[in-house]
Parts: sequence; C-alpha cells; structure tokens
Amino acid sequence: MTTLGSDELSAVLEGRLLTEPDFEPFNPAFPLRPAALVSAAHTADVTAAVLWAARHGKRVAVMATGHGLNAPVEDGVLITTERMADVRIDSDARTATVQAGTRWSQVLEAAAPHGLAPMNGSSCAVGAVGYTLGGGSGPLSRAYGFAADHVRRARLVDAEGTVHDVDADSDPELFWALRGGKGNFGIVTELEIGLMPVARLYGGSVFYPGAAARDVLHAFAEWSADLPEQVSTTSVAMLRLPPLPELPEPLRGQFVVQLRYAHLDGAEPGAALLEPLRTVAAPLVDTVRDIPYAAVDSIHQDPTDPMPFWDGGAGLTGLSAAAIDALLEVAGPGWDIPVPLVEVRLQGGAMARPPAIPNAVSGRDAAYALSTVGLMTAETAPVVPGLIDGIVAAVAPWRAASDPFNFIGPATPDRVAGLWSEQDRARLLAVKRRLDPAGMFGAGHTLA
Ligand SMILES: Cc1cc2nc3c(=O)[nH]c(=O)nc-3n(C[C@H](O)[C@H](O)[C@H](O)COP(=O)(O)OP(=O)(O)OC[C@H]3O[C@@H](n4cnc5c(N)ncnc54)[C@H](O)[C@@H]3O)c2cc1C
Repeated sequence: MTTLGSDELSAVLEGRLLTEPDFEPFNPAFPLRPAALVSAAHTADVTAAVLWAARHGKRVAVMATGHGLNAPVEDGVLITTERMADVRIDSDARTATVQAGTRWSQVLEAAAPHGLAPMNGSSCAVGAVGYTLGGGSGPLSRAYGFAADHVRRARLVDAEGTVHDVDADSDPELFWALRGGKGNFGIVTELEIGLMPVARLYGGSVFYPGAAARDVLHAFAEWSADLPEQVSTTSVAMLRLPPLPELPEPLRGQFVVQLRYAHLDGAEPGAALLEPLRTVAAPLVDTVRDIPYAAVDSIHQDPTDPMPFWDGGAGLTGLSAAAIDALLEVAGPGWDIPVPLVEVRLQGGAMARPPAIPNAVSGRDAAYALSTVGLMTAETAPVVPGLIDGIVAAVAPWRAASDPFNFIGPATPDRVAGLWSEQDRARLLAVKRRLDPAGMFGAGHTLA
C-alpha cells in the first residue's frame, strides 16, 4: 500500500490513516491494497477522505464489518467505519439513530431494554447500514418488511464531499434510490431507522440428518407455501459443517439440514404451525422455543469468526418439487463440495408490499430467496465461484423478476443493474449521475 501524498489527509483527520484495517474483515477473501486507508471517526473524516480521493482521481470503498466485501480494493481509498458506532434510541418514536459502523448487535442491545427490536438479519454481527441499504431481510421481515422500508432519514456524503440529510421531503429521488440501491450514491454516515415492538418470539432451529434432506426439503416446500405472516421468518438450509468442538456432537463435521423458524404470536400457536415439519424426520437437535428477542441470532446460528467466502443467490417465484430436486441434484448430500451453505428463505407477507414511501428494494416480488456460500481456501478458490454459479443456475427456470441485492454476492455492473426494471434502473442511474458523476462509489456492487 502506498500513502503517496496522504500527509495532507492525515493532517485533517480526527480518525486515523492506517496501513491495514485495525480489525479483521469478516470475509478476508479479497485483498485490500488501497492507496489510503482511513479509519473514520465522524462525518468530517469521511468528507476529508472523499475530497482527497476526488483530488487524486481515486475510487472510494467503505467497510464497516467486511461481511459484504465483494471485490478487492486496489489503489482507491478505503474508509473503515467501525469507530463510528454510536446508537441513540428514541423509545417514544420507536426509532434508532445509528452511525455508519454500527453492528446490529449494538442496536439490539440498546433497543431491547425498551421492548423494541431492530430489523436485523440472520446475524447481528453484520453492519446495520450496509445491510439496510441493500434491502435487508431478516427474522422479522415477513411480518414487518425489509429493513430499508423502515429508514426515516440518512446522512450521506456525496462525491463532492457535500453532506446531505436525506428524507422523503428533502430529496425524494435520492431517498427512494438509497433505500435499496446500496452504496452507489455516497457514503452514509448515519441512518435513522424504525424499531419494532417485539420483545420475545418463538424461534430457533431444527436440525435433521443429511439422509433426510430430500424428505425435509420437499416437506418445507409444501408447508411453507401457505404460512401466515406471524411466521416472521422461515428457511431451510443444507449445511456442510466443520468438525468444530463447539458444535453439538451430532452436527460436528456433518452434512445436515437446518430448518430455521420464528413465530411472533406465542409459543402454542407457533408450535402448532411448526408441528408438521418437526415430525417429518427424527431431529438431531431442536432448539425452537420461546426466546427473548436479544437471543435472535440463535435462530440461524450463522458463523461469527471471519471466513473467506464467495456467495451468490437469487429470487425465486416459488418452490416447486422440481426446484427442490434441481437443488438436491447440484448440492445435495451426495456431493463433497466446499459449499457450507445452500439456503432457501421464504419471503412474502409484508416483504411483498411496497412501503408507504416506496423505495428501490430489489427482490420484493420473489416468493423465496436462494442464498449459497462457498469457502475460499487456496485449494478451493479456483472452483468455488463456478460451484456457486452452478447452484444458482440450477434454479434458473424458477427465477423471479428480480433478486434481493444483499444475496447476489460478487457481481458485475450488468448483474447489479439487472436487479431493477428498465424504468427503475433509469431512475437509479439519474440519481447516481447527480451524486456520483465520476463513478467513485459502489465498490463491488457498482451500478454503472
Ligand atoms: C453471515 C452473514 C449473514 C448475512 N445475513 C443476511 C440476512 O439475513 N439478510 C440480508 O439481507 N443480508 C444478509 N447478509 C448480507 C449482508 O447484509 C451484506 O453483505 C451487507 O452488505 C453487509 O454489510 P456490512 O456493512 O456488514 O459489510 P461491509 O463488508 O462492511 O460492507 C458491505 C457493503 O455495504 C455497503 N456499505 C457499508 N457501509 C456503508 C456506508 N456507510 N455507506 C454506504 N454503503 C455502505 C457498501 O456497498 C459495502 O461495500 C449476510 C451476510 C453474511 C456474511
């Protein structure tokens, strides 16, 4: 990494100019070799970094946690935001104001004492801002919609270093584009988001042996087609688990199937709805029970230690028996492949309804979302992107009109632009041209 000409930048920062990130990105698969790496302490640091990048003709990438790194950062400026992690709760208004580097775990911790829950995803280690800008579907989504549907205001630094406080009145087009168009328009330094009145839920996981994969997946497809919105999330995943001592013995090093489930209206009706799936095969482990919302990560049990990965995904119109067979054929228990996760998550309910103030969230029309993750080691890296493409290609006949942005993985600008209709793409590009005419922003998920 060179820091050529960066003294002028260092002099104006309250944060620090670093030679490498002061935390390990969750996904270390992509090399980070920026010309300057700014650990920002507040919005003024972000502005300084953007102005420096503009002066030196550099692109700007931003990283809060590294869960969504989708490309190497070569030569440009990398802004890390993990020091900007302030959370303010307004319990009367049921809102949280979160800074750019805030993880969902920090929002959860601040909101829970008020009996409120944020619209986090499957893992609260993920960053609240990057997740929300990409749409954001999580354990409450079938009841309350996408995380982006609950954004009230955003503070954004554009390519000229101008700070915008954006809401539905101040700049309706940018407010529409930002909620779904991700990091394409600037660096968001603060978001005001809605919180939901959820203190407890009935949720967790049921793990089945790999031998039952066919039965469980087919049963899930039938059962999930007709669930009420009180089932605020459910998904089924084929997992290839590592032989880690912290895993329960029956799961350690095994191919298993995991059913994830959350129900918002009490344990008894929640258990009654789950019963047909619970009995489809003998579970290895069943953790579904009444839990405080603070324990929401126990539903998916996503990994928390950094791992190099390549992911992909797609929206699906439905989950027919043929679609299940297609997935089993490329990723079922017969295959020894470095693909730890193939998940199909139910959408629908509130996710299918545009919010009162419409936004650019993609994948809203999908009935299910496929998401798959491959492990990138020195040996597997040459084959993993092809494996992930192959799994996504297997469900091509059932593809929805658009895919959820957060699940597409590394993508070309054409793939990103294809997430929207021609009309919406033109709107997004018009906002991009206004805020970011030279194409500085959007690293890894660039619209143009
Ligand atoms: C284990 C795991 C679980 C996940 N679960 C879900 C899930 O349940 N639902 C879901 O919808 N998604 C999920 N995701 C995807 C995740 O939402 C995206 O990868 C998201 O971009 C991660 O944001 P981050 O800030 O943590 O990551 P980072 O790698 O730090 O940032 C990723 C991207 O987000 C954008 N971004 C981040 N901060 C800013 C900012 N301040 N201003 C502008 N743009 C910014 C940029 O485009 C950046 O490149 C998951 C990912 C992982 C690895």
